[in-house]
Amino acid sequence: MKKLFLSVVAAAVFACLPANADGPEYLPKWEKGYLYIHNIGTGQGDCTFMVLPDGTTWMVDAGDVGNATGKNPAWFHTVPDNKKTVGEYIVDYYNHFSPTPGELDYFSLTHFHVDHTGSPKTALPGEHGYARSGITLVGDLIRFHKMVDRAYPSYDFPSREKIFKECSLMKDYLAFVEYQRSQGMQMERFQVGSKKQFALLHDPKPYAGKFEVRNIVANGEVWTGKGMQTRKMYSGDISLFDENMNSCGFLLRYGDFVYYNCGDLGSGNYKNFKSQERDFESFVADLCPHVTLVKPDHHGWRESSNAKFLMATRPEVFVFMASNRQHPYAGTMRRLADPLVYPEPREFYTTTDAARSHLGDELWGLFKPTGHIVVRVHPDGRHYEVFVLDIFSDDYRVIYHSGIKEVRVDGKK
Ligand SMILES: [Zn+2]
Repeated sequence: MKKLFLSVVAAAVFACLPANADGPEYLPKWEKGYLYIHNIGTGQGDCTFMVLPDGTTWMVDAGDVGNATGKNPAWFHTVPDNKKTVGEYIVDYYNHFSPTPGELDYFSLTHFHVDHTGSPKTALPGEHGYARSGITLVGDLIRFHKMVDRAYPSYDFPSREKIFKECSLMKDYLAFVEYQRSQGMQMERFQVGSKKQFALLHDPKPYAGKFEVRNIVANGEVWTGKGMQTRKMYSGDISLFDENMNSCGFLLRYGDFVYYNCGDLGSGNYKNFKSQERDFESFVADLCPHVTLVKPDHHGWRESSNAKFLMATRPEVFVFMASNRQHPYAGTMRRLADPLVYPEPREFYTTTDAARSHLGDELWGLFKPTGHIVVRVHPDGRHYEVFVLDIFSDDYRVIYHSGIKEVRVDGKK
């Protein structure tokens, strides 16, 4: 009897142990058929790196606001520390997890702000006519095969002066584009409505009809849902339009799983902005039947994520990339968490604890542990997992794992 009791206890203990009982847990290595969405935590801006089901690699943004030591109290400091620049940390991460270290199929930039491009403040000198920070550093150390931004080749909407005024890296960025083009990099302007600009490159056939990236918004134009048709979302004086309003955005679909990333688009008015024509999400909501994973617009700040958008998309997982002390804003978080907006459960992840004191204990308590956040979608396009990797370890060990979840479609399991 005693023997039986002991073996039952042993079995129960064994069942509770993590899969790798001898040491830390690590992210499963990418295999064909899986979609990985890595949200890299740097404390200084956005950087998302994806491995698509056939091994095509794509990075969206590589920001660095240039507040490495945290001297400006409104912004966070670099994580894990400032021994390296943000761009170097991104390169380390990419080369660790990419199936093709040193080579990247697509790089796309949502818009020209330093938390998405990089900043001269923390730039390293370069040998090719541009200082290196964010994109220009990552692209110096990793070969981009194709790059896409919202304004190539003219860079004049709403005006060249305005783009330069809003992005202090612009001179270096344009020199980078020019040099890399001379080395064979393909450069394109983001095409709203297209489903071909970010196509699978290596083995697309098995995923035909199952995987698609649709470009839905850029430069104040939104896809209508028909062919390549677009419509303008604002009228008024274009000199008032700022970079956030012009962000490029896409919907990525893999089976039932849908991912939304629209840069720093807005969803409503806020008095500090010059143009009050900011409600883009209400137009975009019409295109989104359901969304599994959302990168909240504009880091979840005041004018992000309106109720119409949330009620239309009913997201399951929100991932913030936080660099400002109000990423996300407390009022926005209340709306995201409110069961009256939509009743289904949802999970919140953020890369850093930049907003912890602004949010307070109750709202902060809704978040999972912070770190690099990786969403792993299974080959069936119906199941996914979320992993949080430790930013402060040098081997990217897993500190949180959601377990396997089934995609909720139209509110039903
Ligand atoms: Zn931003």
